[in-house]
Amino acid sequence: TVFNFGSINIDHFYRLPHLPGPGETLAATGYDRGLGGKGANQSVAAHRAGADVVHIGMVGPDGSGRRELNGFGVDVRFVGTEGRVTGHANVHVDAAGENMIVVLPGANHEQSLTLLKSALAEARPGDHFMLQGEANLGAEAAALAREAGCFVTYSAAPFKPARVAEMLPLCDLVAVNSVEAQQMAAHMGVTVDALPIANLLITDGAKGARWRGDEVIDQPAFAVEAVDTTGAGDCFIGTVIAALDQGAGRAEALRRGAGAAALQVTRPGTADAMPTADEVAAFLDG
Ligand code: ADP
Repeated sequence: TVFNFGSINIDHFYRLPHLPGPGETLAATGYDRGLGGKGANQSVAAHRAGADVVHIGMVGPDGSGRRELNGFGVDVRFVGTEGRVTGHANVHVDAAGENMIVVLPGANHEQSLTLLKSALAEARPGDHFMLQGEANLGAEAAALAREAGCFVTYSAAPFKPARVAEMLPLCDLVAVNSVEAQQMAAHMGVTVDALPIANLLITDGAKGARWRGDEVIDQPAFAVEAVDTTGAGDCFIGTVIAALDQGAGRAEALRRGAGAAALQVTRPGTADAMPTADEVAAFLDG
């Protein structure tokens, strides 16, 4: 089982002729709404990859976000409702594809250790636990998951300098993109190669990914025509963790992650665009 202590957002997409300036009122030419947030995206990716996924999170009193996550098939018994609004992002995209994004964390900053403890009561040693930079209570959560015997994976995104020192000793795997890896190294005053992390997974867009642990495993990206790379990293890591949870080795898990992310970037959308295990298998065999 994959337990994910993660953020849940509703993303609102507004298509605009150009990005608005100060004081400007602008009519959108299109609108879309979808499930988002790094946590929810990773849960959907892991679920579509075939894992049993239990999401632990918090949404606003109207239950929006939890409903959508449940609709994808993720176990939402440990997603609570809190006084604040569900986290959301307003994504403005202009005709050239340039974007401007406003995020309100909302209930994602009201995560509950009580709910987490209830969920982890179902965990068995060797289960997987994921968390990301968007939710609060990172170190406490990682410590509880460790006590429960879980393999803990932390997506240090967005990068939060204040959290690194306390998080790293509690994690079995840290996953970042190349920008976050640089930020982390700069913050710690070392090179990326010298980051003191037992297992570090760095993704680098169309260049592929590298797992640096006891051994170094390089996984090239698959050449595809990308139309929307939003959520590629979440797709990759969700798929990798699902594969590890299903007993795959690291190299095989990375291959599935790269295959899933390659398919995901060829489709518009984020959570909706996550491929199924069958689609990934067909792509990798093809
Ligand atoms: P993030 O979305 O967190 O910035 P990356 O951009 O590094 O993450 O992408 C994560 C993974 O998704 C990459 O390692 C790669 O496997 C895949 N990927 C991303 N962009 C592309 C692309 N244009 N073509 C093929 N695969 C891609």
